[in-house]
Amino acid sequence: MVRSKGYPEALENKLIDRVLYDSDRSPEFTKVVEEISRTIPHMCYQCGTCTASCPSAPRSTYRIRKFVRRVVMGLENEALTDPDLWLCTTCYSCTDRCPRDIAPTDVIMAMRNLAFKRDIIPVNFLKTVQAIYTTGHGVPNNDVNRAARKKLGLEADPPTTHKFPQYIKGIQKILDYYKLKANADRIVKEREG
Ligand code: SF4
Ligand code: SF4
Repeated sequence: MVRSKGYPEALENKLIDRVLYDSDRSPEFTKVVEEISRTIPHMCYQCGTCTASCPSAPRSTYRIRKFVRRVVMGLENEALTDPDLWLCTTCYSCTDRCPRDIAPTDVIMAMRNLAFKRDIIPVNFLKTVQAIYTTGHGVPNNDVNRAARKKLGLEADPPTTHKFPQYIKGIQKILDYYKLKANADRIVKEREG
């Protein structure tokens, strides 16, 4: 039975009721997400405050409440392979407002980490890793920003690795330790050649 009416097709498809089988569930997934996120998704009573607070929800099919439910039900594959997993902006509005003191943002972050372990990650996230490795910034400064900063009476470059590039080495050391850059390079190469 379809519960939605008049939504775009992609959203309608996502909201269709479907049958779940016990074999779809992985209780271990619930446990691991709770361990990594250090929060309590099992306390969720599906009030929807998180989705109502989420700036991504009105612009996409992303529903944070649904992801929290997937964790509680142990629906690992369904959660990790849904591209919407990557639409959270990490604004923390849902975490601020959840009446059960759950941190849905951290639940999403935990699942992203687990997805990355399976090489499930959009290329633009990997390119952000590469940019951080090279410049210390996910979004490096550029000439347009420099001109705007000067107009505002600011220094062209902020007092970050842009002004102190000698600290980029420290950032690279951290990314190398976790093999983030190596994995990002490998996956980008596999996908883009
Ligand atoms: S706001 Fe909290 S309790 Fe309500 S649906 Fe979201 S995670 Fe669950
Ligand atoms: S942290 Fe993510 S899921 Fe939570 S409200 Fe912000 S964008 Fe939505």
